[in-house]
Amino acid sequence: MKRILITGGAGFLGSHLCDRFIKEGYHVIAMDNLITGDIRNIEHLLPLSNFEFHHHDVSQFIHIPGELDYILHFASPASPIDYLKIPIQTLKVGSLGIHNCLGLARVKNARVLIASTSEVYGDPTVHPQPEEYWGNVNPVGPRGVYDEAKRFQEAITMAYHTYHGLETRIVRIFNTYGPRMRLNDGRVLPAFIGQALRGEDLTIFGDGSQTRSFCYVDDLIEGIYRLLLSDYAYPVNIGNPGEITIKEFAEEIIKLTGTDQKVVYKPLPKDDPKQRQPNISKAKVLLDWEPRVSRAEGLRITYEYFKSLPEEELYKAAYHREFSAS
Ligand code: UDP
Repeated sequence: MKRILITGGAGFLGSHLCDRFIKEGYHVIAMDNLITGDIRNIEHLLPLSNFEFHHHDVSQFIHIPGELDYILHFASPASPIDYLKIPIQTLKVGSLGIHNCLGLARVKNARVLIASTSEVYGDPTVHPQPEEYWGNVNPVGPRGVYDEAKRFQEAITMAYHTYHGLETRIVRIFNTYGPRMRLNDGRVLPAFIGQALRGEDLTIFGDGSQTRSFCYVDDLIEGIYRLLLSDYAYPVNIGNPGEITIKEFAEEIIKLTGTDQKVVYKPLPKDDPKQRQPNISKAKVLLDWEPRVSRAEGLRITYEYFKSLPEEELYKAAYHREFSAS
């Protein structure tokens, strides 16, 4: 039985990865400090004999007994609200955290796949963004802690690949949505759906002309699975090229939820990227991958999930978890 460590295993993407690798017959070790992750995302896996949960901060030395074939590094705050509130932890997990994972991988002779992000392209001047684009990032802006941590993470991973011959993979993830997103994480989709469910107006930041391209989580997980098993060490974009303005997106959510609320306009946050769309030519050729779930279908499933949550979830503050300052 192959053994895989998934850091951030109780998070949105991490928990879907746990499900996938359990389904593929792996022994899965999920690690999470539960700052932004939630044990409820993996509760259904806890009774399984081929699943382990380690409550641990990956920025501290990682000890895993036994063999490991793969390490997926998905621990990190990932929404602008989270990384504004916990900037130091964001920087640490993207630097000390990946350093620990790479060290562990050398000892275990494991293959490492890291979660990078379209944020490495910053506010892009090339559109759509191919992997060859180096980006337009403000290192000292509010998003700098996330963007630079992820850029450093790519750099150190590539250095371990070239210097130590470690097997490594880098996925650049574009906006992804689906069940188990936190309703209060501040990202646009849960924000809009939460507002609709509470009977509040939908808050569009700026004039709503900025664009994003939303990928349903199952499509993303399939792309990551294929990348892990491929032999390609350079970054690969995984995302859905279906681009939409935030204003159009708000209209779609209003239609989906049947709310009679309106949209209201709020100031655009600093350094908010004006446009974002993945160029997925590489994934198509190298992994024979492209997204399959339409936005209409993905949004419907996600809306059902949010509706099924206990009502108090709707009223939790944007950042509600206790966390240590370490
Ligand atoms: N946004 C918005 N209203 C909200 C939350 C977000 O208009 O209540 C906008 C945000 O300014 C950005 C886009 O939606 O232009 C996507 O934001 P998100 O936080 O989901 O992620 P990003 O892609 O910016 O990292």
